[in-house]
Amino acid sequence: MKYHIVTYGCQMNLHESEKIAGVLRGEGYTEPSSAEEADIIVFNTCCIRENAENHVFGNLGALKKLKRQKKGLIIAVGGCMVREEGKAALLCERFPFIDILFGTHDLSALGELIRRKRAERKKIVSVRGEREETEDGIMPVRTSYPNAWVNIMYGCNNFCSYCIVPYVRGRERSRRAEDVMEEVRALVREGYREITLLGQNVDSYRDGGVAFPELLERVAQVEGDFRVRFMTSHPKDFTEELIAVMKRNPKVCNHLHLPVQSGSNRILSLMNRRYTREKYLAELELLRREIPDCAVTTDIIVGFPTETEEEFRETLSLVEEADFASAFTFIYSPRTGTKAAALDGRVPDEVSKERLARLIELVNEQTRRKSAQYTGKTVEILCEDRDEKKGLYLGRDQYGRMGYFESATDAVGAFVQLRIDRANGISLYGTECGRR
Ligand code: SF4
Repeated sequence: MKYHIVTYGCQMNLHESEKIAGVLRGEGYTEPSSAEEADIIVFNTCCIRENAENHVFGNLGALKKLKRQKKGLIIAVGGCMVREEGKAALLCERFPFIDILFGTHDLSALGELIRRKRAERKKIVSVRGEREETEDGIMPVRTSYPNAWVNIMYGCNNFCSYCIVPYVRGRERSRRAEDVMEEVRALVREGYREITLLGQNVDSYRDGGVAFPELLERVAQVEGDFRVRFMTSHPKDFTEELIAVMKRNPKVCNHLHLPVQSGSNRILSLMNRRYTREKYLAELELLRREIPDCAVTTDIIVGFPTETEEEFRETLSLVEEADFASAFTFIYSPRTGTKAAALDGRVPDEVSKERLARLIELVNEQTRRKSAQYTGKTVEILCEDRDEKKGLYLGRDQYGRMGYFESATDAVGAFVQLRIDRANGISLYGTECGRR
């Protein structure tokens, strides 16, 4: 029996899909396949923005025909959307052929839901509320070698006014430090060469006396040839201690993803971000004083309710000052139930689009300028994959920049030294001059 998983959204969801695959293996589904061949199709959904939901709706609709043609096919929908207020009912109404609906707190129960579906032959809906437990018991089927994602915590308590995450993923729950360490040691023994510690807000991690900097240091001191990343950090919680741990542990990548969201203090306050533009820039200054080559990437929202042209220009000027390595840029998307969704002063779509275009132009310009500086230099990348269309291997350096190169032998999983011949936008092209 075969399974097919469709994943929407962030790294957290990608890793959860690896856990869903683990559950499916436990239920007798043996290999991943195309949707047409699958005996169970699972949608792992995202609701962070309206267009993510629209994709889910569009692609679910396309399954109706397949469901009619293939007797016994199970269609399961899980993830953030299912825990969003009213969405489970809406999904049932619009797509009556869905067999199982499960929320973000029901992953460990998925096996039982599948068994019930097979036995009872009726729709199964399980959307549990808050719970203390984490998903530690599930063995993921990892698909991202040589990188391994490791959850250190779940949920978020921050309630940024635009964000649905605390409502659909619940309150913060940290895993036991020793459990995280055991998982990391096992992954390094298995040959994984990059560990990415994941949490909605890693700085809030705490297990008794162990806070995030201490956990990161313990992970970085595990024996083996690997590197460590983490995401996501919150500027309100960022500490000198974390910088010190990054600085003294060479296994920790010199890369920090630090979402700023806006350069205007009034908008930051409306977003409930609890830091100012000045604090954010001071953190970057401190970081760069201690780790001058540290790459900083960010997230930025434009068109937040009531954002004026003047305030948007403050975002542009912050981007210029911060000199980001790259940025994920978004138009504000109202999410039902969040505080921002109730605000007046919606910015017209065409204004938001025009602001987004100006922001992207600035970010791309910075990225191009940084990429050009690489030409002639040697960088070390961790080879992740082969791009069959380009006929090239690819991987990232510790700063998160993508490098492409030719190789006659399989390079996936190797740290490769690349002499950079040319840069194209965010991508670097080089010649291999060593590997380990
Ligand atoms: S920190 Fe803010 S933006 Fe990030 S998940 Fe929590 S509420 Fe959402």
